[in-house]
Amino acid sequence: MNNMMRMYAVLGDPIGHSMSPVMHNAAFESLGMPDRYHAFRVPISDLRDAIYGAKALGFGGLNLTIPLKEEALKYVDPDPIASKIGAVNTIDFKGGIRGYNTDGIGALRALEDAGVNVADRTVMIIGAGGAARAIAFQLAYSGGRIVIANRTLDRAERLAHDVGMGLSELGKTLSTSIKSIGLDMIESEIADADILINATSVGMHPDIDAIPIPPDLLRPELVVFDIVYNPRYTKLLSESEKRGAITIDGVQMLVHQGAEAFFIWTGRAPPEGVMREAVIRELL
Ligand code: NAP
Repeated sequence: MNNMMRMYAVLGDPIGHSMSPVMHNAAFESLGMPDRYHAFRVPISDLRDAIYGAKALGFGGLNLTIPLKEEALKYVDPDPIASKIGAVNTIDFKGGIRGYNTDGIGALRALEDAGVNVADRTVMIIGAGGAARAIAFQLAYSGGRIVIANRTLDRAERLAHDVGMGLSELGKTLSTSIKSIGLDMIESEIADADILINATSVGMHPDIDAIPIPPDLLRPELVVFDIVYNPRYTKLLSESEKRGAITIDGVQMLVHQGAEAFFIWTGRAPPEGVMREAVIRELL
């Protein structure tokens, strides 16, 4: 291996679906960098060895996906945001084993690209899993009023509590509200929402006709953001578009979370257009 070349990888189990290798390899190529990015299937029981092994082999960094993001916290020195979210999706090996979570910032940038500011807006997030945690934390941090709706109410309540506690521990006064509801309450709450985010896996391939809320609850003034990116145009987005809502697809978040990781690793401005095109080509 050329001394100047660095290896990067995404670890997960399963891992075959990952878009990260094409996205990052396209970025390296377009900047004339010799670095390469691969995907490895790593069972959760081998995560510690895989992280320490990658460091020993001189890897530049790692991404983590399902089901490794929470477990990885045990083996890294997390930044304050990743620590509060309780999950790591990016590891950087410069000066140690540093853990970050770029999912929340990826979602925030996807909204900003569409001209949507979350401060003082009401954001209903459906889901309370790993991605919803990162998004709820980041958008509350950015001043949004958050409503978390989840199939398992306990999980939504825990997330709302953790976000409130996490922000105050970071020294940020929670200026807005965080509420948790079950899916049965969406109908009565959605009229107050400015932004709706699907952070569940509902609508993801192969169940592409599934939709997380009844389409008649969608309306033109709503911004609808679906973080599912496979397919890119989900049933939720097509039903929202039909009703005149502004829509944002999951590819935007995928590219921004990857771009943030790329910057953490390399310190270089990520070629986001190239990364987006590579993902879209792969999804076709
Ligand atoms: P996760 O931790 O497994 O959470 C899944 C969430 O979906 C939970 O809230 C779960 O509710 C809910 N859910 C699953 N099936 C449901 C159903 N049939 N009806 C209602 N709710 C249901 O997964 P995750 O890591 O957060 O990922 C969620 C989705 O986001 C996946 O499709 C993933 O590909 C996508 N994602 C996209 C990006 C991006 O960059 N665009 C980044 C990360 C993830 P319960 O709590 O009740 O089980």
